[in-house]
Amino acid sequence: MERFISAKYRAPCYHCNEEADQIITAVPNVAQVVCDNCRATRAYIPVIEDVSPETDYIKPGCYDLWKLEEPATCRNCGVHSIHDITIGCRNFTVRCRSCGFTHLYRFNLEYMGEDG
Ligand SMILES: [Zn+2]
Ligand SMILES: [Zn+2]
Repeated sequence: MERFISAKYRAPCYHCNEEADQIITAVPNVAQVVCDNCRATRAYIPVIEDVSPETDYIKPGCYDLWKLEEPATCRNCGVHSIHDITIGCRNFTVRCRSCGFTHLYRFNLEYMGEDG
């Protein structure tokens, strides 16, 4: 599978309430957050890809936003640089710091993933 972003973020799981690694992956057609403890999975589907100002798609969610920085290769400018990842309960954005190209994903569904 094409891998655009993969990251981990340690946070209390919304499902099992344990503080656990939340495994974050994003590829062009889906973004996911999986709890390493209980495998609860949130899936986000792409809405738009565009060059945008930093704050355009970042809206307050229903709980704390997670903000991460991960190196990745931009699909727009091709530069391997830091991408800002912002995850809320409704939106998931990945933004290239080099050119501003932003992937916006919208929360789609929640399910229990398989072990492993
Ligand atoms: Zn969990
Ligand atoms: Zn870029």
